Amino acid sequence: MHNCNILVVEDEDAIRAMLIMVLEQANFTPVAAADTQEAQKALNEAIPDLILLDWMLPGISGVEWARRLKKEPMYRDIPIILLTARGEEEDKVRGLEIGADDYMTKPFSPKELVARIRAVLRRSGKLQGVSTIVLGDLVLDTEQHRLSIGDQQLEVSPTEYRLMQFFMTHPDKVYSRTQLLDQVWGRSVYIEERTIDVHIRRLRKILSEYNREELVQTVRGFGYRFSLIE
Ligand code: CA
Repeated sequence: MHNCNILVVEDEDAIRAMLIMVLEQANFTPVAAADTQEAQKALNEAIPDLILLDWMLPGISGVEWARRLKKEPMYRDIPIILLTARGEEEDKVRGLEIGADDYMTKPFSPKELVARIRAVLRRSGKLQGVSTIVLGDLVLDTEQHRLSIGDQQLEVSPTEYRLMQFFMTHPDKVYSRTQLLDQVWGRSVYIEERTIDVHIRRLRKILSEYNREELVQTVRGFGYRFSLIE
């Protein structure tokens, strides 16, 4: 596995230096840019595996640049994590709507940053052989088949574990019961669609013990969505 190249676009020197240090310690290969102009130059030289992009930058803002990249066939598949000092929920939604893969509010811990980067790289297929899937504070250990929230381990059945694995690797999208059946149980298994509702109910009950039942959302007339955004 090659060391993933990460383009860091951040105008504040101290934060940029901190990000570079954290990434190097986590065995990534960071490339630094102080604004989108420098970032564009770096892109012309090499396509990174991921871009860490500050929202507020001098000149063309991070969010505007991300929007432009997502329209370019050459660049649109590069995963982007937006960094922002703003914590408004509508900013988060806007960030994800323009095609950013994740969104982090400053200040964040180095550990959280690395976990989010790995999660995005894994989802985009750039990081193979990683045994944990992280989404927010949910962690799925795919070797131990364990699900935890923070340091609390959750008691889930094998079916609920598979459902969570599917949801955590496919967040923010709506799936019909038929699609969930195909994806989680497999086409060859005959299960009635309402069985899914039973498992969803159980999963919500487990999550509700941690006040996280809103992660599994019912989309009336269509199916279910798993999302950190309410
Ligand atoms: Ca900034």
